[in-house]
Amino acid sequence: MARVFNFSAGPAALPLEVLETAKQELTDWQGCGMSVMELSHRSKEFLGIAEHAERALRQLLDVPDDYRVLFLQGGATGQFGAVPFNLADAAQTADYLVTGSWSKKALAEAKRFCRAKVAGDSQESGFTEIPDPSEWDLDEDAAYLHYTPNETIGGVEFHFVPESGDVPLVADMSSTILSRPIDVSRFGLIYAGAQKNIGPAGLTIVIIRDELVGKAREGTPRMMDYAPMVEAGSMLNTPPTFAWYMAGLVFQWLLDNGGVSAMGETNRAKAELLYGAIDSSGFYSNPVRRDCRSWMNVPFTLADPELDGRFLEEAKAAGLTNLKGHRSVGGMRASIYNAMPREGVAVLVDFMKGFEARYG
Ligand code: PMP
Repeated sequence: MARVFNFSAGPAALPLEVLETAKQELTDWQGCGMSVMELSHRSKEFLGIAEHAERALRQLLDVPDDYRVLFLQGGATGQFGAVPFNLADAAQTADYLVTGSWSKKALAEAKRFCRAKVAGDSQESGFTEIPDPSEWDLDEDAAYLHYTPNETIGGVEFHFVPESGDVPLVADMSSTILSRPIDVSRFGLIYAGAQKNIGPAGLTIVIIRDELVGKAREGTPRMMDYAPMVEAGSMLNTPPTFAWYMAGLVFQWLLDNGGVSAMGETNRAKAELLYGAIDSSGFYSNPVRRDCRSWMNVPFTLADPELDGRFLEEAKAAGLTNLKGHRSVGGMRASIYNAMPREGVAVLVDFMKGFEARYG
């Protein structure tokens, strides 16, 4: 059976090699006579799997020793609430940079639990750019500064790390983690849902500086409190074992393929290829300011939206799937995470050129 090029925003494509390994190990993981799904999370086999995944992730992102890595549940959406519960008091201010749908949602949730405020936003541009740092209204006493390095729906990405002074910087890296090197020491807390660049849905990664652990307010549910989770090695309850195992396979695949530096080069090249095709045509367009364009999610519209249905149909027939844009913006969106090979983007670009020649 032929695999398609899957441009889904998430759950997203996984590397074929990872799926092949999982398939081969599915019924009998390394001679233990059962699948990973059937192993106790307290067994020495699973503890080995869990440790390997953490070690590999630490190596990939060069995570400093004074940071804890957690493998949690509840998605990035769960972290929208967990962050204020852990880092702010109800009366404290927290700053939010709002650059699209996901940062808006993070802010709305935080407002329920602390004095979350907009420190900068790009609403006026229709969320097609990053607001200029000189215009940010940062509060020196804020509990933290939150931002969304990559807006998955709008396709807007920060190609720099915001300067937050002594205020801990918190980043929702759901759709950009592991796509390029980052300096973890610049962040107080990083979180990400797994279902884009890490593995299957159901797993949420949190990377947190030690000094921020143990500050949760009174009444924080234990499942949302980082301190008992750190204490329990992310096993306060039964963790999503299979997703954790799959994440470990993806991390190993990244290490075997040159790590995040190599990934960054490939991702840059993939993005340049696709934006180049869009910009050089009079038929396709992308509204995002050039210096804020996402390497991971590339939205684009056709000159005639009447052709959207035909585009999607013919793309699917050509083995290019899940290109429909988010309902809030319409048009198309190609999500080109780590597991999308350069070849997949090249095939898409060829298809786009052919489509334009036929109907443009
Ligand atoms: N933040 C970002 C940037 C996302 O892309 C998504 C999911 N698309 C979320 C948060 C929500 O993630 P989850 O479904 O894991 O809660």
